[in-house]
Amino acid sequence: MDHSLLRLGIDLGGTKIEAVLLDGAGSVVWKKRNPSPRNDYSATLSALEALVIEARRAVNAAAKCSIGIGIPGSLSPADGRVRNANSIWLNGQPLQDDLQTLLGQTVRIANDANCLAVSEAADGAAKGFRSVFAVILGTGVGGAHLIDGQLVVGANGLAGEWGHVPMPWMRPDEFDQTRCWCSRPGCIETFLSGPALVREFNARSAQSAGSVQDILRLAKTGHADAEIIIERFHDRLARALAMVINIIDPEVIVLGGGLSNIESIYSEIPQRWARWTFSDIPPITRLRPAMHGDASGVRGAAWL
Ligand SMILES: [Zn+2]
Repeated sequence: MDHSLLRLGIDLGGTKIEAVLLDGAGSVVWKKRNPSPRNDYSATLSALEALVIEARRAVNAAAKCSIGIGIPGSLSPADGRVRNANSIWLNGQPLQDDLQTLLGQTVRIANDANCLAVSEAADGAAKGFRSVFAVILGTGVGGAHLIDGQLVVGANGLAGEWGHVPMPWMRPDEFDQTRCWCSRPGCIETFLSGPALVREFNARSAQSAGSVQDILRLAKTGHADAEIIIERFHDRLARALAMVINIIDPEVIVLGGGLSNIESIYSEIPQRWARWTFSDIPPITRLRPAMHGDASGVRGAAWL
């Protein structure tokens, strides 16, 4: 095996850290999924270091594979420290410097939605499209814009930060939502993230849900509160994506992250978003789940 071609990709999520080692042809040589340490930066560093050591050991490579990491935030263009991460214990930390010191090699770090966009445009659900908007719906909510295979970074490195604009066309009962961790009121993330759905369900139901899967299971059995939460999720996602179409008008929107597995999205949203788009005809924008599913972010990280 030619170790010089091995690429290690790591997706540092809010609930799990996923790692995949790809060979030169993009085939998976090794993979691993661990829970994410929460509220602890040094534990996060240790968990990342342990995964890299394990990956190197798995292929008998000392430090020969490239390392790319997708994070739920970005590196500040000012000082290279993490900013805008919904895993807020990462914010302000010199993650790239610390990992490079720990691991003794170059580490590339990018936003997780950017990794998703790159991966899906390369050989996934967005292949062949010139304008792509990729969305992460998970513990956090983020987006990325890609044109002709190139990420649009933006003058401030903020392009695609869709999770932290206000929910458009708010309904009267939506003005009192919980304030976002980013300190602003009404962010899309406070409506469409996994924790947001669980919080809203638990606030209205006598039954309690620990995850979005619990809510989906209850909705299937006709549980009224669970059905309301899923209905609201459809309505809000349609509005939030219609705004993206009004501004960027992408050819395809690709969804990744845990909530992108909710199958009803792909029939419900395109029926609903026409009402909010500024057009005389329904949008022809495609809405697709990430072809590489949960693994898309981690594959994109490996390609960094
Ligand atoms: Zn926010």
